[in-house]
Amino acid sequence: TVRAGVVAVQGDVSEHAAAIRRAADAHGEDAEVVEIRQSGTVPECDVLLLPGGESTTISRLVHREGIAEEITAHAEAGKPILATCAGLILVSTDANDDRVDTLDLLDVTVERNAFGRQRDSFEAPLSVTGLDEPFPAVFIRAPVIDSVGDDVEVLAEWEDDPVAVRQGPVVGLSFHPELTDDSRIHDLAFFETVLAGA
Ligand code: GLN
Repeated sequence: TVRAGVVAVQGDVSEHAAAIRRAADAHGEDAEVVEIRQSGTVPECDVLLLPGGESTTISRLVHREGIAEEITAHAEAGKPILATCAGLILVSTDANDDRVDTLDLLDVTVERNAFGRQRDSFEAPLSVTGLDEPFPAVFIRAPVIDSVGDDVEVLAEWEDDPVAVRQGPVVGLSFHPELTDDSRIHDLAFFETVLAGA
């Protein structure tokens, strides 16, 4: 059984829990999903999901609750993290916003709500490294990734902007992979890595 923690201080949680279960199923694995609202749970998790939501609120709460340090320790132990949208903003090195105290786990800088300036929300078929067929990506007031460090692999781009990136065990997405039935990215970030023993 893979124990998957979803940081649940704010943001969309249940859709991610369902996607994690579907991805586990596709691998013939069992997943136990636990919602994280306070410190003490992250150290028991094999994989972690940082969902979308409001990054300034999520940042404030994970620091206040002592969860932030635990997320950092999880990444430093080489355990998988999937960070989407506001979650990506949180793990970045700089979000160009003083209200977000970033965790510096993924060497990218981001601009909040930057896709939303032109179009609030949209869906786009994305070619993603490691997936055979395009992924239906839903963008909601999504962050733009402005710069990418040398150790960061770009897994997908949309209109010349990186929108899916990976650095070691940490995968970051500008979009929401939990809003369609397609759980291939949860699979890619978690189960393929766990099973590979990485
Ligand atoms: N706009 C949000 C933020 O900057 C992120 C959007 C999302 O997670 N859907 O916090």
